[in-house]
Amino acid sequence: MTSVVDPKPSAVQADAAQEKQVTLLMQLHPDLTDATVEDVDKAVEISKECFLKWSKLSIRDRVAYLRKVRKEIAASVDEIVDVIVEDTGKIPVEALVNEVLVTLELIKWYENNVERILGNERVSTGLLMAHKRGEIRYQPLGVVGIVSPWNYPLTLSMGPIMAALFAGNTVVVKPSEVTPHVGIEVAEIFRRVGEKNGQFENLVQVVVGSGHVGEFIVRSKVNKVAFTGSVKTGKRVMSVASETLKPVVLELGGKDPMVVLDDANLDRAAKGAVWGAFTNSGQTCMAVERVYVHEKVFDKFVEKVVDITSKLRQGEGSNMDLGAMTWQRQTDIVRRHLKDAIEKGAKVLVGGQDIVINSRQSVSPAVLVDVDHTMDIMTQETFGPVLPIMKFKDDEEGLALANDSVYGLNSSVWGKDTSRIEYFVKNMQAGNVCVNDTMVSYAISALPFGGVGESGIGRTHGEEGLREMSQIKSVAYDRFNLKTEVQWMPIASWLEPMAKRLIKFRNRW
Ligand code: NAD
Repeated sequence: MTSVVDPKPSAVQADAAQEKQVTLLMQLHPDLTDATVEDVDKAVEISKECFLKWSKLSIRDRVAYLRKVRKEIAASVDEIVDVIVEDTGKIPVEALVNEVLVTLELIKWYENNVERILGNERVSTGLLMAHKRGEIRYQPLGVVGIVSPWNYPLTLSMGPIMAALFAGNTVVVKPSEVTPHVGIEVAEIFRRVGEKNGQFENLVQVVVGSGHVGEFIVRSKVNKVAFTGSVKTGKRVMSVASETLKPVVLELGGKDPMVVLDDANLDRAAKGAVWGAFTNSGQTCMAVERVYVHEKVFDKFVEKVVDITSKLRQGEGSNMDLGAMTWQRQTDIVRRHLKDAIEKGAKVLVGGQDIVINSRQSVSPAVLVDVDHTMDIMTQETFGPVLPIMKFKDDEEGLALANDSVYGLNSSVWGKDTSRIEYFVKNMQAGNVCVNDTMVSYAISALPFGGVGESGIGRTHGEEGLREMSQIKSVAYDRFNLKTEVQWMPIASWLEPMAKRLIKFRNRW
């Protein structure tokens, strides 16, 4: 059993677990064992109890409480960064900027906007219904089950957790089995705030475990599932959720294209490509995974990218540009994709070597050319430090290559001519497009984030992210308390001819 309150198993529990199958969590973190189905059901039950009180707070009171959570995170920043670095192998600045800072800014945005977004909303009732008043209400769903991945273990659990809480829900969350200590740290933060305030200690229940524990959550009595992870698991989550028609938000993988036009600022584009592909060792759902460059500037662009990449500092601690890859399974995928590409004719201009950083197997940042869409490295999610670059001859071909994917998460286009940029912004099949930058849309809290195609369903962040965690209720009020309504019984003989005349009149043009 592993939960918020007692993340370490007792000796008896550990013995019992050893008798069972050794799970991925137990292999990677022998200090922990997987939550059982009973643990998950208990967590949901506790969460439902807490929901009864939490959901009764006004939005303002929720904001006041969650502001304390933000402050607690800010006050614990060093401790949080240490846990993230220990669990993932990323460099501290990545944890600090891409996880803690982004999360705190998102929470602030929710604080400042939730009342406007989830407050009751008057709507126009139209001419025929002018004697009514219409209102939309955004009510909490209940308990939201959150299943998160390992690549950004703080922001990708805290993002959906905070959206759910601001919307009046309570939460049961399962962190990835690869990075469970970050999940335990999250639980600790909420516990501390609850304890200091003498209430709501149970707002967020954390259950630790491998994939099957995630499935326990999907099968439990949670009211919605917010899942972030791979396409394969996302499909499984949706299939299981469909058995009880449980709503899901799925934030899944990507193979994000970057298109460089011949009028782009090449110095900026080359630096952007390197950052977009190699930050967090490329283990980012919206990393630049494939680059298409106009043939006129191809050689110059490649030269610049190779130059920057060959100077990157990869290793442990501060003063590095990138850290280690998080775990062996991901490194093996990167090696497989590199091998497949080389066998099919790709040329590695720099990097691609195996290296070990603090006992983590990693790969040095690799730039490839002579790549095409027969190669896994151009079609499947690599999720590692690789930057394959391909040439295109005109904008139509550039767009066709960018859209030749089952994924559609992020994308970027680089250039000056606004009409050409607009062509890509409009036609790129992706949930997000960045212009002359990459990945940055995620850091703009007001922009909804999510994918099309196999990259997912639903949105996080922004207004849509908050409404995703709400139940929409439409309310129609009668305004005048008349004795009867024209369509009520007994039906008047004039109603039928009158309705015909009205239809004709209202549809003259
Ligand atoms: P994963 O799908 O292997 O696991 C994600 C989570 O799902 C883990 O907590 C895992 O334990 C759990 N899980 C596994 N099987 C389950 C099941 N049957 N039911 C319920 N939960 C189950 O993904 P990962 O390797 O942890 O993360 C990497 C993937 O996540 C990449 O594909 C990446 O692109 C994607 N990702 C997407 C976003 C986004 O916002 N779109 C963000 C980050 C990562």
